[in-house]
Amino acid sequence: MLYGQPHLACHECDALLTRVALPPGKKLVCPRCNCTLRKPARDPVNRGMALSLTSLTLMVPAFTMPIMTFNMLGLDTVDTMIKGVLHLFQAGFWWMALLVLFCSILAPTLESALVLSICLLVRARRYGGLLILLLKLQARVRRWAMLEVYMLGILVAYVKMIDSGQVHMGVGMICFSGMMLATTLNTMLFDTHSIWEQVGRYRGGIHEVRPR
Ligand SMILES: [Zn+2]
Repeated sequence: MLYGQPHLACHECDALLTRVALPPGKKLVCPRCNCTLRKPARDPVNRGMALSLTSLTLMVPAFTMPIMTFNMLGLDTVDTMIKGVLHLFQAGFWWMALLVLFCSILAPTLESALVLSICLLVRARRYGGLLILLLKLQARVRRWAMLEVYMLGILVAYVKMIDSGQVHMGVGMICFSGMMLATTLNTMLFDTHSIWEQVGRYRGGIHEVRPR
């Protein structure tokens, strides 16, 4: 199999098409089923860096500042994300605590750090083995970052608790929402395909793949 082969197959209708160089701002559309085959991002590296830095900056207050304050009979309970994980550990739900820790804290942090590192390497034109390793790692980690599930959990808890006392959203919640938005946009828009193309051009465009 050759990386620089002149044909590609449509993922919807399997039409075999001739690969063409895409001018900036254009997208590749299948002439048979009209589905978009490729739409290169205009500035994947700078946008990836901006979203990763936003996400990483907001993570510190999002994880350590109060997500919500619950007041019942004059008694205030303040909860942060880190405290939530510790409560789960202390209650004996260690497997759930590990899952929340990994999917809501570690995976999103690692994903943003990986995207930032990839962008920095591309800007420095370092297309070696480290960049390839980080690209593969980012593809695996992004499947585990599930901030939206955690956000859903917070909203469900908010709705359930609102009848029992006074609930106030904290600064951590605003930071968490911003971080979730930046991370989700980064996951959706980060154009790894164009970076793989740059790696391919740098490495001569041809990769032999050994049959298994
Ligand atoms: Zn098609």
